[in-house]
Amino acid sequence: MIDKDKYKDVNPVEEEVKTLESPKNNWYVDEKTLANADLPEEEREWFSDARPQVVPPIRWTPMEKFLNWARAKSLWILAFGTGCGAIELRPLLTARYDISRFGMAPRPTPRQASVFMIGGYVSLKTLKRIVRSYEQMQGPKFVVAVCSCAINGGMYWDSYNTIKRIDNYIPVDVYVTGCMPRPEAVLSGFQKLQQLIMDGKAEGQNLYAEKFDWYKANQKKVIKDWNMPDYNW
Ligand code: SF4
Repeated sequence: MIDKDKYKDVNPVEEEVKTLESPKNNWYVDEKTLANADLPEEEREWFSDARPQVVPPIRWTPMEKFLNWARAKSLWILAFGTGCGAIELRPLLTARYDISRFGMAPRPTPRQASVFMIGGYVSLKTLKRIVRSYEQMQGPKFVVAVCSCAINGGMYWDSYNTIKRIDNYIPVDVYVTGCMPRPEAVLSGFQKLQQLIMDGKAEGQNLYAEKFDWYKANQKKVIKDWNMPDYNW
């Protein structure tokens, strides 16, 4: 039996995040402008200082339905494998599962991708690249968290350099549990995402814009060598 008291404070990374406050409040100048304060002075002008904006739905309903259908049927997946669960994406590309028939395809760069599949455990070093890649993706964009490690820590729940919950750092639209989930489960997760998009309920991107300060505080708490723009765009 696990002695819960013994392991109560075992993950210092997650314990810090629970407070949801920032040690230094220096990532924005005012409500509209980011400071990029961790960059050298000469590099600040290379990056945008604008914050992400909430994108309201189009009110002309037939057009919104058509756009959501088109988005759902053309999911381009960022080919960035964060952990061992990412290997499950490869079978989906074979003739047996053939995700091309659902309009899904892997893309090599965040600028071309609309879906970020977090494929397993996330170390602090990887989290930094995940934040940067997610912010570089153009909207509308969605996140699928695959594997127990990405959702609740999995077998790395007490690791000193692995985060437990990816949704403390970027918004997640669909979770696929398992260690590791079979390709059918991953495919089912993507199909769930398609349905959410068509129903207009995949709002992770807007959640990120709404709670930007909360996400940024969490990210900056665990990423100690923050030497990138406050919003990577
Ligand atoms: S849940 Fe299992 S398969 Fe997935 S990243 Fe963790 S250890 Fe690897």
